[in-house]
Amino acid sequence: MTQYVCPKCCKVQSVPDGVRAVLIKCGACEEALHTFKPAELNDDNIEAFITQSDLPVVVKVEAQWCGPCKMMKPAFDQVAAETDTLLFTTLDIEKAPESAAELGIRGVPAIIFFYGGKEVARDSGLKNIHQIKQWLVQTVQSIS
Ligand SMILES: [Zn+2]
Repeated sequence: MTQYVCPKCCKVQSVPDGVRAVLIKCGACEEALHTFKPAELNDDNIEAFITQSDLPVVVKVEAQWCGPCKMMKPAFDQVAAETDTLLFTTLDIEKAPESAAELGIRGVPAIIFFYGGKEVARDSGLKNIHQIKQWLVQTVQSIS
């Protein structure tokens, strides 16, 4: 079984191995378990996503006022739309100030890769789609 955190209601759902989460609906809220859109993290749900998801969790840290964050959004959303082996999320530092402080965020945009509840990689600055994919491939290789 693989544990997924529902991107809508944050309840943990177990999916049998070999079954694609994209085909499964959440048992609690009936939304698709993998939406191909980044889930929004906040101070209340971040821990559930990071510690209970069996999938690696990719967090894009951003702010509403940040121009480079806005420029990076379409690229990050596109990668999320193409990938079902990672859980993509966004964290707005103003909507989630405690989490931003806990993560020691010094600037945005930043991307952080969590696996097994632990941070395994972090990078900051504007990235295009190619750079995001390259960083993800490198990071996945480093943990496997
Ligand atoms: Zn749900």
